[in-house]
Amino acid sequence: MFVIDKELCTACGDCKDACPCDCIEEKDGYCVINPEDCAECGACEDVCEQGAISEQEVPSKQI
Ligand code: SF4
Ligand code: SF4
Repeated sequence: MFVIDKELCTACGDCKDACPCDCIEEKDGYCVINPEDCAECGACEDVCEQGAISEQEVPSKQI
């Protein structure tokens, strides 16, 4: 799953614009990805100039 580091995110909105699933939401000055709607396409990671988005392994019990 893709996650946004809220310490690095500037809420610029570029990832929201790039996301084909419309699953990124802005909250209190940073953005969060709704994993339920995320297609794992990686478009958001590619556009984030802050390097705030990364792909993380999901613990096996959550799969
Ligand atoms: S592109 Fe990066 S810095 Fe901009 S809102 Fe998305 S995660 Fe935050
Ligand atoms: S990986 Fe793709 S679908 Fe998921 S949040 Fe990023 S841009 Fe949206």
